[in-house]
Amino acid sequence: MYIHKQIYKEIKNAPKIIIARHIGPDPDALASSIGLKEIILNTFPNKEVYVVGSPTSKFKFLGQLDKFTEDMYSGLLIVTDTPDYKRIDGVDSKKFQKSIKIDHHPFIEKTCKLEWIDDTASSASQMIAELALNTKLKLTTETAEKLYAGIVADTNRFMFSYTSTKTFDIVSELLKNTNLNITKVYDNLYMRPYKEIKFQGYLSENFIITENGVGYVVIESDKLNEYGVDAATAGNMVNNFNHINEMLIWVTFTYDSDLKTYRTSIRSRGPIINNIASNFGGGGHIYASGARVKDKEEMQALIEALDQEAYNYNEKNEND
Ligand code: AMP
Repeated sequence: MYIHKQIYKEIKNAPKIIIARHIGPDPDALASSIGLKEIILNTFPNKEVYVVGSPTSKFKFLGQLDKFTEDMYSGLLIVTDTPDYKRIDGVDSKKFQKSIKIDHHPFIEKTCKLEWIDDTASSASQMIAELALNTKLKLTTETAEKLYAGIVADTNRFMFSYTSTKTFDIVSELLKNTNLNITKVYDNLYMRPYKEIKFQGYLSENFIITENGVGYVVIESDKLNEYGVDAATAGNMVNNFNHINEMLIWVTFTYDSDLKTYRTSIRSRGPIINNIASNFGGGGHIYASGARVKDKEEMQALIEALDQEAYNYNEKNEND
């Protein structure tokens, strides 16, 4: 594909490369950015390559981050997994002379000079693997394990609908070329303390389900303290509540005492939810979105909008 060559050429010509991704990084954001740094350095060991953004202790197995300094604005910026300005973590993409976006979210706005957007790709990590497999950028087993982790996390273990033949082709190539250890990846991603399972039990007991199939649970700080679970971990648990008959859309509202808002994670098995998320200042994918709501009133308005969408979806499907 022409875009692979174009990106490879930009990378080859840049002595200094800065890689950024979205705020509140998940494994795909981290794996795609750190994996990209590694394939560049595996191929061009003399380049200066930095991955910037706030660190997270939970996913440190995906690698270390670098501290941003102002002189980095003279480099080539590559932003992975981020569709809009406001969610790029740690840098102002407008200040770079040269910039590239590599992203799998539906298009929101142009943030970089060269953009490779594939919203049919399962993950940004899949796109980085695709880039490596189609150019001279070199993959090692260690890097392939990170990219595999990003793919597995963003597809929720190949369950989400954007898991495609291309996803499996790329994973197959990663396995063939690098002999990566999938058990190690799953252990890194999914090992957790027993207290998290107990907390998941609390969530299971406390979903409220609307008439049209929107399940939601509100997680206040006292419960996080009681179970010893942090807000990020609690929010990520939304992925564990798929395939429940009564819930077509399910949502977790987790109070974030630093930002004094509720981190809102929304998932769907049919109704399209990202437009609704963006009406509440958030965004995301058609079946996996997020937002921040400031209070119970806004929470209620979001639930009502989702409930209406679930109603419309049910009506349409009953009449088809
Ligand atoms: P999460 O529920 O946090 O795993 O997020 C699911 C998806 O929604 C990801 O693709 C995020 O990029 C997107 N997303 C989450 N929170 C926000 C937000 N506050 N604004 C825009 N997009 C978001």
